[in-house]
Amino acid sequence: MNGHTKAQASASPVLEEKLRLRKALLDITNRIHAAQNIKQILVDLKDGILNLFNAHSLTIYVVDILRHEIYSLFLAGTQLKEIRVPISNQSIAGFVANTGRVVNISDAYNKEELKIIDRELSFDQSWDNKSGFRTKQILAAPVWYNNQLMGVIQILNKKGTEGSFTEEEIGLALEIAEVLGVALYNQQRFERRRKTRFDYLINHDLIKEEDLDRAWEEAREQKEPLEACLMRKYKITKEDIGRALEDFYHCRFIQYSDKAVIPGDLIKNLKKDFLRRELWVPLEKVDGKIHVVVDDPNNILKRDTIENLLKTKQIIYNVALAEDIIKFINLFYLTTDTEYSFMDILGRLDDDEMMVTDDEDTDEIVTESDSVIMQLVNKIINDAYNRGASDIHIEPNIGKKNVEIRFRVDGDCSLYQSVPFSYRAAMISRIKIMSNLDITVKRLPQDGKIKFRRPTGEEVELRVASIPTQGGVEDVVMRILAKGEIMPLENMALSNRNYSELTNIISKPYGMILCVGPTGSGKTTTLHAVLRHINRPDRKIWTAEDPVEITQYGLRQVQVQPKIGFDFAAAMRSFLRADPDIIMVGEMRDFETAKIGVEASLTGHLVFSTLHTNSAPETIVRLLDMGIDPLNFADALLGILAQRLVRTLCDKCKEPYHPSKDEFREIVESYGPEYFEKLNIRYNNDLKFYRPGGCDICGRTGYRGRMGLHELLIATDEIKRLIQKHETVEVLRNKAMEQGMTTLLQDGIIKSLKGFTDFVQVRRVCIK
Ligand SMILES: [Zn+2]
Repeated sequence: MNGHTKAQASASPVLEEKLRLRKALLDITNRIHAAQNIKQILVDLKDGILNLFNAHSLTIYVVDILRHEIYSLFLAGTQLKEIRVPISNQSIAGFVANTGRVVNISDAYNKEELKIIDRELSFDQSWDNKSGFRTKQILAAPVWYNNQLMGVIQILNKKGTEGSFTEEEIGLALEIAEVLGVALYNQQRFERRRKTRFDYLINHDLIKEEDLDRAWEEAREQKEPLEACLMRKYKITKEDIGRALEDFYHCRFIQYSDKAVIPGDLIKNLKKDFLRRELWVPLEKVDGKIHVVVDDPNNILKRDTIENLLKTKQIIYNVALAEDIIKFINLFYLTTDTEYSFMDILGRLDDDEMMVTDDEDTDEIVTESDSVIMQLVNKIINDAYNRGASDIHIEPNIGKKNVEIRFRVDGDCSLYQSVPFSYRAAMISRIKIMSNLDITVKRLPQDGKIKFRRPTGEEVELRVASIPTQGGVEDVVMRILAKGEIMPLENMALSNRNYSELTNIISKPYGMILCVGPTGSGKTTTLHAVLRHINRPDRKIWTAEDPVEITQYGLRQVQVQPKIGFDFAAAMRSFLRADPDIIMVGEMRDFETAKIGVEASLTGHLVFSTLHTNSAPETIVRLLDMGIDPLNFADALLGILAQRLVRTLCDKCKEPYHPSKDEFREIVESYGPEYFEKLNIRYNNDLKFYRPGGCDICGRTGYRGRMGLHELLIATDEIKRLIQKHETVEVLRNKAMEQGMTTLLQDGIIKSLKGFTDFVQVRRVCIK
């Protein structure tokens, strides 16, 4: 009895293994037939099938007849990716699909072996090269259903043993292929039968069919769009909804962006309420074709209406969510109840009445439309403010071309709106009246100011410049003076070294500190942050500014008026008679101001100012060239901070990537290899650089907000000696770097390496 059992046990490992295989095969067969979609078969069941073979890897391809390709899906991390292979003899799987033959190869790299199978057959090494996987054995078989090719199953690399796959394994592969054939056929038939706009979500396993059905019910009950319900309740992302819609409608999915340019010409004759009801709106005209967003691009009736109203068949339809279409319409027509929409305003203007002839001496026609023009200008200023613009550019063109209005946001200009040419004269006049400029003077530049009260009651100040341009028209540029908050010094993105050195020199009782850089590099913001740091009741702080952009409690701030002779130098002289501890003077643009500044800092005052120089060392040479006494200046100087603003990468969508060696080398070169060494960053596989992506939050630009780059030169004893000797920029820079100064470019590179910004932005502001 005992012997008998023993004999059975020792005789049966082969049998047992066969039984195990049959059981596993049955199990996987059931699971294949139960699969909800193709993705489950290709991805989720893959390991189960691979278990039947003593092999390393397995891929199931599905035929895409239309494209004459086979494709498969795989997971890269958590992301689903697709691989596609042409049906041709250029790859093993492609060959199997092309010829319907079973292929069993012992070494994919053995060209002779491949040639025996077919003269043309080649092995595509690109995948191996990319992944580092070294293919050896390949067993590939076609997947049939009746006489229709459904796909290819491919098994790679036997475990342990040499030689090719065994006859038994081939048999097993053919059995699996047969099961797959039925399953893939059923999946395809299933998909053909049910084609809704959310197939993509089902096919990609993002939602179960029952849940989709339930969502339909719920959306109907709640009277909300199905998409909204899917996003809210079933946590489907807007991006996936977009992919599903793109897949279904074969067009682009557009998401709402408040940076969209108002398509004045296109919506001039369309009624807002009608568009809101019908759920479509034109966005722009590109190469003669009008882009329209609509909730259902397949709706023939709607397309007919759209083509009639826009009077063209040259229309490109894009799909968007109903809520986004409404938002676009609101953006184009109206913002809040207290504000008028651009189109409302333009609609109320009588075109004929406002018509201005090309004769430049014709006076503007002043009519009751004035109040409408007023609303138009108010709307522009309000919108600019709401979008965080720093400048408004109004650019009339000659002839009958539109007036373009552009806003500068975060340092870059972009089109906000174009207004028909017939309004240009009235619009420019209105702005000139608001800013107390002479409307009869059109051939000379003028500048003025507007104090503007927003609907919220808030007051905004704008500096206005009018400039005569080609063709007898006038451009107007308005700078919105930021009623800025004062930023704490800790939030200025100073490096540790810069922060501690800067706080050290600004706590000295006397001396001179300069902040330098081009216009718009944030010098005023920095100086106010510095003053805030040392603004205490026991200190008297006088500032002379042009204009006063930021007000700060505790400072005595003075607006200079060069027109009446009250310039920076005059302000400084009066401060010195008014018992100051600290003096901030807007700019040292002349010898006089600089000289008084140096003297003031030598007589026990802490003096701050700015200059339009490019770098810290250049500033020293510039002042000496101006005629400032080197000995006095060397004595007075505490430090110079050069500054730039760079756009920062949008946190939501920035993409880490592994840089090439060349790219890395280039960064090291620009940083200076001997200094880069100290950063302790080496090229290795984990090294990540960052680049912009593009998402809703950043308006598809990949950038959001700005940050400072800094170069802080400290006037050490050695630097002072070099100043006294009137040394060159080169010598000063080398000494400062030797003592720990990072240049603007270096600071920028460090901030890029940390992923705050990227090298493109840094180069843009640092390299002349
Ligand atoms: Zn973004």
